[in-house]
Amino acid sequence: MICEKCGALITSIKTSRFAFDGSDFDTVLKIEEDDHYNAVIMETDREWTGYELSEREMRDRLLCPYCKQFPFANDEIQIYDVVRIVCFKRDQTEKGGVTAESAIKAVQEAAHELKDTPPDDLLGIGSTMQF
Ligand SMILES: [Zn+2]
Repeated sequence: MICEKCGALITSIKTSRFAFDGSDFDTVLKIEEDDHYNAVIMETDREWTGYELSEREMRDRLLCPYCKQFPFANDEIQIYDVVRIVCFKRDQTEKGGVTAESAIKAVQEAAHELKDTPPDDLLGIGSTMQF
């Protein structure tokens, strides 16, 4: 985006975060432009130093890296708490996991069973049908 205060092309916003010991340090937030809402979106978490502050104080923590001002003419800031869901896949090297080899073997076994099955059984009208 173009900083609306100094005109510089910026791809990140200068801000700060809390460290584990409670001190804070300077960092940058990557910006993502949303053309539909004509907005700029930045993702951070509760360790952002502006998280529980007023909108005016938040603006003091979102700065153009060049002119050190809030880079938007519009003062409005909307904060959304995002829920991130992380699920873990089975370890591919684990015993019993689906590997390329086990998938091929399963397909080969299914093809073999199909070949040995009488046509009537495939239609479900073979010896297994009970009345
Ligand atoms: Zn600027």
